[in-house]
Amino acid sequence: MNLRYHAFDLELKHTFTIARGSQDVSRVVFIELEHDGITGYGEASPSERFNETPDSVIEYIKRIDIEKISNLFNIERNVAYLESLSSKDYSARAAIDIAMYDWVGKALGVPLYKLWGLSPDDTPKTSFTIGIDSPDVLEKKVREAEEYPFLKIKLDGTNDEEIMKTIRSVTDKVLRVDVNEGWTIREIALEKMLWLQREGVEFIEQPMPAQQLLDTAWLRERASLPVIADENVVSVYDVPKLRGAFDGINIKLMKCGGLNAALKMIYSAKSMKMKIMMGCMVESSVAISAAAQLSPLLDYADLDGNLLIKNDPFEGVTVHEGRLVLPDKPGIGVFKKGG
Ligand SMILES: [Mg+2]
Repeated sequence: MNLRYHAFDLELKHTFTIARGSQDVSRVVFIELEHDGITGYGEASPSERFNETPDSVIEYIKRIDIEKISNLFNIERNVAYLESLSSKDYSARAAIDIAMYDWVGKALGVPLYKLWGLSPDDTPKTSFTIGIDSPDVLEKKVREAEEYPFLKIKLDGTNDEEIMKTIRSVTDKVLRVDVNEGWTIREIALEKMLWLQREGVEFIEQPMPAQQLLDTAWLRERASLPVIADENVVSVYDVPKLRGAFDGINIKLMKCGGLNAALKMIYSAKSMKMKIMMGCMVESSVAISAAAQLSPLLDYADLDGNLLIKNDPFEGVTVHEGRLVLPDKPGIGVFKKGG
């Protein structure tokens, strides 16, 4: 078995700004897991929030003893081994996990959705994310996102009213709002929630900081807008803690450690009648197509990371009139462009 990796700069079409900062380029690490003439692809998009960098991803990969994952069909055991090396390093573990699943799907000749008993007819529509910007750039971005039926609007607590007003002046589409922990005072957060409710927002993501779980529960009790956890939910172990504070969870492969962890989180949250959303980082078609294989299980999809970049080296899942279209190829369903 051969495990190869290389860092790659994904170039963004537009500077992307959220509550935590701005970026023009996002450096990811691609991996290739080759065994018995089959290559599984994986990708890590390291997160600053978890102190991850492309270098930390590569350091983690170098620690893997490939003998320990030599039976690629034994995903449960392999994932446990990866977690035993580090309970963090989420995106690095996700890269290996994705490559293992891609390899297994290819070895069996089936797309992953089929392996999991899902129908490609059940994929949801994906939202398109509009980062924080000046009014004229916001208007331009909303116009460019014409194809997408849902927009996910980023707010940070500073110019919220102006941003919403600008967006509503150009579109009457369904809006979802992500505050990325930007509201810290619960009384003000409640006023904003009630205002967004009147604006016809569909749900609100992570209105308050993760450590303010009780304030979030207080907020949820007083407003009817569904509240989705993002920064409050990393792994499957976090899901039971959210009861009462959130109506749903936003799962990201780069946050939970991969497809295996995502499946466990989906079924765990469903057992608590919570809504399931899948989100992403800035990622190529490798990680997005992997996540899209699970998308028939979702209530809300926010899988637009590959749509934000201009130099995607891969092709896989596509979007038609806003809906995710799963490729009929084995594994995660991607191929290298021009390859
Ligand atoms: Mg979010």
